[in-house]
Amino acid sequence: MSNGSSSAKKIIVLGGGISGLTAAKALESLGQDCLLLEQCPTLGGLTRTVEVGDFCFDYTGHFLHLCRHKSPADIPYAGLKDEDWQKVSRRSVCFVSGRMVDAPIQYNLGQLPPSELSECVKSYDERPAHTGSEPPTFRDFIIRGFGKYLADLFLIPQNEKTMAISLDQLSSRAVRRFFPPPNEVLVRAGIRGEALAAAEYNSFFWYPKSGGIGALVKGLSAGLNGVRTNQVAKMMDLPNRTLHTATGESIRWDTLFSSVPLKLLCQISNIPELRSTGEELSHSSTVSFNIGVQGNLRPEFENVHWIYVPDRSIPFYRVGFYSSISKGTCTPGNSSIYAEVGVSSECLDSAEIVQNLQPKVLASLEELGWIESRRITCVVVHVIRCAYVHHTERRDSLVDRILARLAEFGVHPIGRYGLWDYTSMEDSMQSAISAVQNFL
Ligand SMILES: Cc1cc2nc3c(=O)[nH]c(=O)nc-3n(C[C@H](O)[C@H](O)[C@H](O)COP(=O)(O)OP(=O)(O)OC[C@H]3O[C@@H](n4cnc5c(N)ncnc54)[C@H](O)[C@@H]3O)c2cc1C
Repeated sequence: MSNGSSSAKKIIVLGGGISGLTAAKALESLGQDCLLLEQCPTLGGLTRTVEVGDFCFDYTGHFLHLCRHKSPADIPYAGLKDEDWQKVSRRSVCFVSGRMVDAPIQYNLGQLPPSELSECVKSYDERPAHTGSEPPTFRDFIIRGFGKYLADLFLIPQNEKTMAISLDQLSSRAVRRFFPPPNEVLVRAGIRGEALAAAEYNSFFWYPKSGGIGALVKGLSAGLNGVRTNQVAKMMDLPNRTLHTATGESIRWDTLFSSVPLKLLCQISNIPELRSTGEELSHSSTVSFNIGVQGNLRPEFENVHWIYVPDRSIPFYRVGFYSSISKGTCTPGNSSIYAEVGVSSECLDSAEIVQNLQPKVLASLEELGWIESRRITCVVVHVIRCAYVHHTERRDSLVDRILARLAEFGVHPIGRYGLWDYTSMEDSMQSAISAVQNFL
């Protein structure tokens, strides 16, 4: 047990990303004092923006997709002004067979080279019949929905590279509304080259006119009391409702809202059953290479926001262009991009990111002709240890069991990682508001 100071606080919020900040703001608005603890020196979690010389990089590309709220000004507790944000119509493409095909590829097959198109159509027509039962794995869901050829050409390698796991190990509910569904009308229209506008969750998004997505963090943290940074939660004594920090403090809670990854929360708890259940949760890591470039991008990329890259011989699964999304992300005469690499969490610590991965990423970008190395002025690497949680067949029952056990000790997880789900920033903030409303 620590020999540090001891203090009593009724409500603790763990983690200073947008979920924790929203929870703290919601609590304050209800007249409840709380203490927010964040392990890093700065707030924002994955929604931080860093300024480096002429460039402004997000942790990795982060775009505000709103389903519940009309515009940024509608987001509770953030105090945002719509005039500071631009509404952007998404332009994303898939790099397949040496050409760019509009995303989602499943509704734009007519843009494939003729030989690839006819194979896709043949295998779409021969796809396994619907049996009425849910496909057992995410891989089966894809093959049943779109046919084996498109599955092997794009849908399986793209998702396996992103989530760093075989799709055989994921359930068919793995990505839910984020995956354009097997809608035959839309697929057939795309085959005829008459792509219909589909209602997708990210067909447009909001982004600050100047700077990066960190504007959301600034808004949420403005005027917030009771925030302490550099506070790592190291051990959770659940029966005694006491949190021990790396600096030796012990802090009691009556209610604790946690946005730290659920697996980590289980690991630092003193309940053996939680620790062993948490062991079964799995996730991928993402390494994001944020690259500052002198001069303009290739003209064809000026209107592209991001490119999906399924080819397994290329290290990254996605490349995005900050400066095509917002001119306010770098000074005039410069451009900025990010390349994301999926790594299995078990391999992250041995990945030799700077010595091994970075040279491969830069060499691939050069080989593809997407940037010229001699024009790179900086590379900022961000490691997202917990990036995509894996919706394995057991994920739902494991998470339900963990949440029920934690609730016995007044602990309520919030956010994408707290709730161990695949969700957006808006969902994460909403989960914090719902948790505060439900439990107070
Ligand atoms: C590659 C990638 C791209 C994404 N792109 C988008 C996008 O374009 N649009 C979108 O809507 N969403 C996107 N997301 C999802 C988005 O990042 C999350 O929904 C959101 O950041 C979740 O916020 P959070 O506050 O719940 O978690 P986090 O941002 O992870 O915050 C958790 C906080 O807890 C702190 N913490 C962790 N452990 C401890 C500890 N032991 N003690 C104290 N503090 C601790 C962390 O430092 C962190 O600040 C993306 C995610 C990934 C991985």
